Amino acid sequence: MLVVMEKGITQEKIQATITAIEKRGYTARPIPGGDRVSIGILHNKGSIDADHFLGLDGVKEVIPVTKPYKLVSREFKQENTQIKIGDAVFGNGSLPVIAGPCAVESESQVLAIAKSVKAAGAKLFRAGAFKPRTSPYSFHGLGEQGLKFLAKVRKETGLPIVTEAMDVETFDLVEEYADVIQIGTRNMQNFSLLRRAGKSLKPVILKRGMSALLQEWLMAAEYIMEEGNSKIILCERGIRTFVRHSRNTLDLSVVPAVKKESHLPIIVDPSHAAGVRDQVIHLAYACAALGADGMMIEVHNNPEEAMSDGAQSLYPEQFHRVMEKMNAIHAIVEKNE
Ligand code: PEP
Ligand code: MN
Repeated sequence: MLVVMEKGITQEKIQATITAIEKRGYTARPIPGGDRVSIGILHNKGSIDADHFLGLDGVKEVIPVTKPYKLVSREFKQENTQIKIGDAVFGNGSLPVIAGPCAVESESQVLAIAKSVKAAGAKLFRAGAFKPRTSPYSFHGLGEQGLKFLAKVRKETGLPIVTEAMDVETFDLVEEYADVIQIGTRNMQNFSLLRRAGKSLKPVILKRGMSALLQEWLMAAEYIMEEGNSKIILCERGIRTFVRHSRNTLDLSVVPAVKKESHLPIIVDPSHAAGVRDQVIHLAYACAALGADGMMIEVHNNPEEAMSDGAQSLYPEQFHRVMEKMNAIHAIVEKNE
């Protein structure tokens, strides 16, 4: 249930409403909006009687929330959540791009790629130091050494760093170095990891599980937000279907569907969806026209020898051209909206 306060209400009246909600044994979560504050009621076992709160001073209306997810839903918050990271804003209609290799392989590798993606207009740098791999025999990342190389990238280029936290054990370490913490597709329903991310002060990119329904994905985001972290960026990265012509199937329709259901920004990663670079390029153009809040694209300076995801990584020059065309497409769509 959502208690919507009158416009321009005093802090005392908001506090009095919170106290009234808590007195009945519920949790009150104030949600600042554009021109009015709403208070979400959480942790109710059964239905709540709206009349308990309707008569309170300063309460405009009480809206039942019909969705299983609450804090992340549009019912709770109408305006888009905007998340500012470095020069980028996710959720304000712009198309910030996160780019970089799949994994940190060496200091010179990440520095070279970061410089070239920055020159092409990328706003954040990505690379994994802890890599979730299908095979236990594959390269699993450089760990803390990799994080140190990423810190060097930030220092030299000014680009904020996006990197994955794979488990609760290494979360603190990743959090120390990262500007944005990525939760990967294989961990979308790792509930202890989600709760830990919810306690972080850093923004989180929550990738969609390989076969997750929209509702399951939003419920995963709810775990993070319920712990107090509302800086969540959802990331569509392709889902498992019956096809064999691409690694996964990019679910473009999930972008408008998420926007209808949730106020959180949603970005698209065409690289892990396609699995091969020639498809990545076309999907990137489609995403630029789609109304997504950003993109994540893998780029490598020597993809033939990449330790992971080489086949889907764009060459730096290729990325440069893709960025130009993506920006042009995005500008046309924006202008005509
Ligand atoms: C990645 O971003 O390199 C990655 C492993 O992504 P996903 O979790 O989407 O497979
Ligand atoms: Mn990858």
